[in-house]
Amino acid sequence: MMLASSVRAQCERDDRTGRDVIEDPEAGEVFCVRCGLVLVQRPITLQAERRAFTAEEAQQRSRTGAPSRFSMYDKGLSTVIDPAARDAYGRVLSAQTKATMQRLRRLQSRSNLNESVDRNLFQAMLHLNRIADRMHLPDTIRQRAAVIYRKALAADLVRGRSILGTVSASVYAACRSSETPRTLKEVVEATGMPKKAVARHYRLLINSLDMKMPYPDTFRYLSKIGSKVDVSMKTQALARQLLTEADEKKIIPGKDPNGIAAASLYLACVIENEKCTQEELAKAANVTEVGLRNRIRELRARLRPDAPGRAHWTRA
Ligand SMILES: [Zn+2]
Repeated sequence: MMLASSVRAQCERDDRTGRDVIEDPEAGEVFCVRCGLVLVQRPITLQAERRAFTAEEAQQRSRTGAPSRFSMYDKGLSTVIDPAARDAYGRVLSAQTKATMQRLRRLQSRSNLNESVDRNLFQAMLHLNRIADRMHLPDTIRQRAAVIYRKALAADLVRGRSILGTVSASVYAACRSSETPRTLKEVVEATGMPKKAVARHYRLLINSLDMKMPYPDTFRYLSKIGSKVDVSMKTQALARQLLTEADEKKIIPGKDPNGIAAASLYLACVIENEKCTQEELAKAANVTEVGLRNRIRELRARLRPDAPGRAHWTRA
């Protein structure tokens, strides 16, 4: 995903510029990462579009209107800007944010974009930037997460679901797709949502948007745990096979990579008749035994039971 972060435009809502104003190449739009406002819409054309630096200019100069996909949001989304001027956690908004919200309302009244999409993006970018600040994420990840969220919104994945949940999933997806080593747990801690909810949003996101995710964490943890509990290389290789199969069946996304790596090691040990207890593995992987047992049960249920050596999985 190529992101142009040096777009020369200034957000007319909050005056942001520079790294906060980026281009979403697939949508052909330049938008503000801080508030989600679309500043420039670039219709796909072979001729050069005249340059536009504000939304109004874009509307005047652009050859085409707003993309038709926005029209699908005619019916309002479930989330509106809180009239009590509090954020999602009930905290009072800062004076600056309140002023921004007021400007937003003013702008919205003359906005050509669908209001609910605009409101949704504004809310989402507030969440995103709060999470990114807490996690000390680099700008590139924040921008990537913003683009992923916009994709989810355009694909109608947010309606009827939690904005915060989809934002959290976008952040995690951005980290994973760029191999920035952040665990799901870290994202969960920064968002304050239940882990299960974030994982569910994440799976929906990458399945619906058909995002290909590398799983470096899981495989890296596998060798780390394997050497800690002193499992043979042969068994570790088998565990890697199981993980690859789990990967193909999309079992891994949203799961704790430590837990799923330990579970595949355990099953490999069972197949190879190598002695290794769940207690040992859970300790080495820094997961609970209950969590490990759940992962084991899941792998056993979804991986092919007829492959060589797997007949006695039921005894595991
Ligand atoms: Zn802005």
